[in-house]
Amino acid sequence: MIKQRIQQLSKDLFNEVVANRRHIHSHPELSFHEVETSAFVAKKLDELGIGWERMADNGLVALITGEKPSDKVVALRADMDALPITEANEVPYKSQNAGVMHACGHDVHTSSLLGTAKILTELKSEFGGTVKLIFQPAEERLPGGASLMIKEGVLENPRPAAVLGQHVMPLIDAGKFGFRSGKYMASTDELYVTVKGKGGHGAQPQQNVDPVIITAHILIALQQIVSRFADPKNPTVLSFGKVIANGATNVIPNEVKLEGTFRALDEGWRAEAHLKMKKMAEGIAESMGGSCEFTIMKGYPFLINEPKLTEATRSHAEDYLGKENVVDLDIWMAAEDFAYYSQVADACFYRMGTRNEGRGITSAVHTPTFDIEETALEQSIGLMAYLAVKQLGN
Ligand SMILES: [Zn+2]
Ligand SMILES: [Zn+2]
Repeated sequence: MIKQRIQQLSKDLFNEVVANRRHIHSHPELSFHEVETSAFVAKKLDELGIGWERMADNGLVALITGEKPSDKVVALRADMDALPITEANEVPYKSQNAGVMHACGHDVHTSSLLGTAKILTELKSEFGGTVKLIFQPAEERLPGGASLMIKEGVLENPRPAAVLGQHVMPLIDAGKFGFRSGKYMASTDELYVTVKGKGGHGAQPQQNVDPVIITAHILIALQQIVSRFADPKNPTVLSFGKVIANGATNVIPNEVKLEGTFRALDEGWRAEAHLKMKKMAEGIAESMGGSCEFTIMKGYPFLINEPKLTEATRSHAEDYLGKENVVDLDIWMAAEDFAYYSQVADACFYRMGTRNEGRGITSAVHTPTFDIEETALEQSIGLMAYLAVKQLGN
């Protein structure tokens, strides 16, 4: 049975995958600078005899074709970039690049997909169809490596019927995996607002146009986007984390700067909300004698897990891991550039549990103490291989 073969190969490969993960972890590179990581992946693919092609500078795409007759194609995606964070973990595989850290687990995704590639290579004679491996750069920075690779044709020649991706999750115990069918992660846009008035002495407000008061009105009014305009069944978030009014106790400033984030799970509503926010802020500023520049930097779209594919994938995961090791995920209002694949292809993005409370491995992603319980790699490499061959109809 192919399942037992994959489970055995996962055991055999575990130490090698951990070594690869530790190598990548100790040599992290920022988004759009994954030169060494990309070379490392290329070298490993060469060792496996897998042909590859570069895409989006540091990205790689490779094909593994099974020997049984089938023209089905499935794509597996791993991201490779790290974050501008200084690692605080004192571990033998601590980051050797000052100020850069794999704090989002992309070292895990990359080494795991290499492990999956090795399993699939060993099993070539036992399955039919083609597995497309996508090693993607720059998940953490706009415009996102996924959008660049799609533009360069990563989903063509051959076109995969499904794209699968996994991501570490320190909220879930190692050994367990999480799935959610339908909308899963949010679109994320950055908001940059400048409210302009006319500054002056705080004791003579009648001679000034106070941008601080205008801003206060705008901040309160904009929350109606969430509470009055958004469909209550459709999650929406609007948060402003930066408000700079650089006056003094007795000085009204000329302008106030705001920075915030807008998140949603519906592209139509997202576009409508952008217009509404802009109109509301500009209208309020104008009615109070000031003006407002409202700039929106569009980020990733929302991520949707295609229901049929996700249900099938989930049941294959239960088959591979045991029902007790597959859990449901809640909506997560963070963004992920895997969303781009999900907008143009049937896609499923699932979570790999990496928590081990007993060993104190509980830190969130994007923190200096993030780490994973590495035993989870044995399941992650096998699960992805199993999901791929099942998706290919084996
Ligand atoms: Zn991240
Ligand atoms: Zn990530």
